[in-house]
Amino acid sequence: MRVLKFGGSSLSNADLFFKVSNIIIQKNKIEQVAIVLSAPAKITNYFIKTIEYAVRDKNYLIYFNKIIKIFNNLLNDINNKYPNSDCEDIKYLINHEIRKTKEILYAVKILKKCPDEIQSIIISRGEKLSVIIMEKILKIKKIKTIVINPEKKIIANNNFLNATVNISESKKNIQEMHIPVDNIILMSGFVARNKKKEIVVLGRDGSDYSAAILSVCLEASICEIWTDVNGIYSFDPKKINSAKLIKNISYEEAKEFSQLGSKVLHSKTILPLEKFNISCIIKNTLQPNAEGTFISKKCKKNTIIKGISCLNNFSIIKIYIKEKENKIDIFSHIKKIISNYNIQTYFISCLQENHSINIYFSKEKNKECYNIFKKNFKNKKSNTIKKIEIIDSISIISIIGKNIVFNKKINKIFLKNILQSNCDIISVIKNSSNNSISIIVQKDKDIQSDINHLHKNLFFENIKKRKIEIFLIGIGKIGKTLLNQLSNQKNILKKNNIFIKLCSISNTKYMIFNSKGINIKQWELKIKKNQENFQIEKLKKYISKNKFNNPVLIDCTASQEISDQYLNFISLGCHIITPNKKANTSSYVYYEKLRNICLQKNRKFLYETNVGAGLPIIDNLQKLIQSGDKIIRFVGILSGSLSFIFGKLNEGFSLYESTKQAMEIGLTEPNPKEDLSGIDVARKLLIIAREIGYKLELKDIKIDSLFPKKFDYSKLNTKEFLSEINNIDSIILEKIKKSNSENKVLKHVGIINQYGKCSVEIISVNKNDPLYTVKNGENILSFYTKYYQPIPLILRGYGAGNNVTASGIFSDLLRLIS
Ligand code: ADP
Ligand code: ASP
Ligand code: MG
Repeated sequence: MRVLKFGGSSLSNADLFFKVSNIIIQKNKIEQVAIVLSAPAKITNYFIKTIEYAVRDKNYLIYFNKIIKIFNNLLNDINNKYPNSDCEDIKYLINHEIRKTKEILYAVKILKKCPDEIQSIIISRGEKLSVIIMEKILKIKKIKTIVINPEKKIIANNNFLNATVNISESKKNIQEMHIPVDNIILMSGFVARNKKKEIVVLGRDGSDYSAAILSVCLEASICEIWTDVNGIYSFDPKKINSAKLIKNISYEEAKEFSQLGSKVLHSKTILPLEKFNISCIIKNTLQPNAEGTFISKKCKKNTIIKGISCLNNFSIIKIYIKEKENKIDIFSHIKKIISNYNIQTYFISCLQENHSINIYFSKEKNKECYNIFKKNFKNKKSNTIKKIEIIDSISIISIIGKNIVFNKKINKIFLKNILQSNCDIISVIKNSSNNSISIIVQKDKDIQSDINHLHKNLFFENIKKRKIEIFLIGIGKIGKTLLNQLSNQKNILKKNNIFIKLCSISNTKYMIFNSKGINIKQWELKIKKNQENFQIEKLKKYISKNKFNNPVLIDCTASQEISDQYLNFISLGCHIITPNKKANTSSYVYYEKLRNICLQKNRKFLYETNVGAGLPIIDNLQKLIQSGDKIIRFVGILSGSLSFIFGKLNEGFSLYESTKQAMEIGLTEPNPKEDLSGIDVARKLLIIAREIGYKLELKDIKIDSLFPKKFDYSKLNTKEFLSEINNIDSIILEKIKKSNSENKVLKHVGIINQYGKCSVEIISVNKNDPLYTVKNGENILSFYTKYYQPIPLILRGYGAGNNVTASGIFSDLLRLIS
């Protein structure tokens, strides 16, 4: 069994009635269906207007005639479509209902009032007529039907205009009907009866709730709500074109949507479905093949935020209580007034800070309610309260998503947007379900443009930022490791709403592009197949031609040529991430230019791996300085290879053996003279010094060489260099012996003294020095600062190696979206 509910928007003309009948017949071929129908669009509104006019002795026939016209048009169109079928029977039934309603309205006009029990009779007529018409269409098509009359079978409480149904009694009534399995069941929505057999309605849009009730009563497997949109969107798609369709949503979240103002579902619809675990789908009558929104216990795909809801036209009655008074006492008095006068409130909140109780309700009733409260407090408790005031133009804006109250980032965006919108914030409410957070605001003007802005910031800016398009240059050991790490983490990142797209990979020879994303697992194959020659200009053109959200150039080369292009890439909108130290150690003029253009273009230049590979040095150093600390002195072992080589020297190995071992495990540059010369350490030291604020050049760094002055190794290749260092082993050995005899060890360090002088030195350290035990490729960086002294802030860990370096680049990548 399947229950299908068609709303007024699906029944606004004869063509739609025929369309709906076709959907019903198709569905009935698969399994038995029960149909719940609303009144044709606008009918209920016109009935309400008619009553309002009759009470005020205005010409209510203006609206009543509109109702008659809609039904006459429907009858004519059905007659035209099926000229051979006799429609006199339904004409009679419809006219009969219209005549009866007109008589009631006349009485309302004479009495100048329309009690709720009469209103409910009048406004529920539209749904009754919809069922009469649909029954006729199905009969013409020779389909067997049976009608459930909710005015008899659906039992509800006494709240005439917003009743709640007693499911078990209604179920019993319906099951006693013993409905044959080959009949299509029809029932009008929105209406029920109370114990006294009086007609009640289930609140505006209540046919959705009727469908949920009928689904439970008939033990249906699914409840389908057919309307004029493709499902539940991130906001009303008629108000925000770019609203996003939600394909899957949990009962809990759908409940929040309906209760917090999304008209697509009546607020009470989900509760019975959830209780009896009946799934629900929202479908579009105008596009029956569209997927729709599936509502069930667990949502398949959990995004942090599902949508925004907004309730407008609220008023608050604010009751200020004298400080010494017992709030609980007054609160229960208020509750009593609400129940005695049957006032429809949305909710009540107690504000501690100004000793007030806020009662929220719909604007239309504000004067009436205000007078009721004033009268009641005057009689009984006038000495307990300071004053009662009424505040109009209240809206309740909410954001919805599973456990959204815990998501600081989303809440921050929400609050920031509302603060910027010039709305007065009355209060912020965390829903106890944790699935929504509401801000209650007052604003005289329409707040839709504020909501549009909020929607954009929550669904687009944020998501845009969480997409990263990578342009990788350099696929040596580090580049390859990075690609592996990205491939391994891709799905985990996706789950956290971070979307990484690899748009281009190049090495010195070749390049490949794909703006839709290169399959990371197959990049080697792709680059082999598509051998386009590498040209930096081509890459720049490609980036400027395509529109990327968040492009980032990752430079995993050691090339000066590539680093000279950073300014151009930043101008094109790219962020830069690199372990390449060349840009940061070029002239100070270039160093500053790079930072200025980043500020101008709002792009980031991230180079955490320039010093200490994956160790979080640059970021910590920047934060330390930004938060007001001052770096006084620095000492560190900054080279993984020299940390290893000196460790081995101190253990008694020769320089030749130590260097060979370091080479074998991949710790050195291809030619180890680069490491042993100390130039690499000098570069790192310069980067730290510039970070601290010293405007130095590379030539200002003093390098104490490990080698004798006359040893010229500049032109030696790897093999030659290795055989030459064999010859200077004895000099080194002597230095080691001397320091060992003093119970010290030799270390290769970078130093920045308190005057900003930088030097690369070989020093002896004793057991108490934090540098003493550092070896095997580890780095150590000791910062003596205003806050950290005499014991320095120490960062220590592996400062070289493909995995740690690639993971440092990865961390920089994630900084782009933090
Ligand atoms: P029906 O007549 O089918 O009951 P309603 O007009 O009551 O239709 O509900 C459907 C309407 O709800 C849509 O046309 C849309 O304008 C409105 N709506 C409000 N919020 C949302 C939302 N978050 N997602 C989808 N529709 C929404
Ligand atoms: N016709 C009613 C209304 O307009 C009920 C419904 O459409 O669900 O509120
Ligand atoms: Mg509706």
